[in-house]
Amino acid sequence: MNINNDCSLLNKKIVYDLTPFSHLDFPNHLSCIVWMVSCNMRCDYCYNKDIVFSKEGKFSFDEVFSFLKKRVGLLDAVVLSGGEATLHKLVPICKEIKKLGFKIKLDTNGTNPNQIKELIELNLLDYIALDYKAPQSKFQEITHSNQFDLFSKSLNFLIESDMEFEVRTTVHNDLLNENDINTIIGDLLKRGYNKNYYLQEYLNTDKNIGNITQSSKHCDKTLLIDSINIIWR
Ligand code: SF4
Repeated sequence: MNINNDCSLLNKKIVYDLTPFSHLDFPNHLSCIVWMVSCNMRCDYCYNKDIVFSKEGKFSFDEVFSFLKKRVGLLDAVVLSGGEATLHKLVPICKEIKKLGFKIKLDTNGTNPNQIKELIELNLLDYIALDYKAPQSKFQEITHSNQFDLFSKSLNFLIESDMEFEVRTTVHNDLLNENDINTIIGDLLKRGYNKNYYLQEYLNTDKNIGNITQSSKHCDKTLLIDSINIIWR
């Protein structure tokens, strides 16, 4: 598809917001973050509620590209986040970003393995952060979606590929306990995942989807399987 012919994609306001500068989101890169509207999950701890439920954002990609043209030489990379960015047609968007010389990081819940595969095969991505939301037995309860199999397909594909990527999990101790995290670690090891495993503490805001509050318990890190390199954020 030629993006120049796809006016609807360019003009549609599918970007909820744009963070113009971040040095934290893409390891070792100065990037901007493009927050794309909508999500196909409803994770209880999600604090991006407004993005998840939005059908329209502040910007179109026309406007994002105008911004990016002024950042050539100043930023290294673009982070496509959300919401769930892969709900949108990313191939033509990524091609345009690449033409401007930026690297691309994709944040994803992994539920669109076909698009992830296509983007990688076209060499359009430089880094992926894949959320491993919960063990299969708790996946539906926490994400309010029944898409573990799709996520699982993406994970297997990434492990078998040469793609630079990370797996990460948000931990709220009332939702995921140490046994659940160990189940995830066991699954990652069984699949042959040999990179860092990132755990991030739930960030308490008054605007999360499940109206949850800070857990009274803390994850006991000494109970976690240590045959994988865990990094807490
Ligand atoms: S945390 Fe869950 S609901 Fe929120 S954007 Fe990510 S996948 Fe969607």
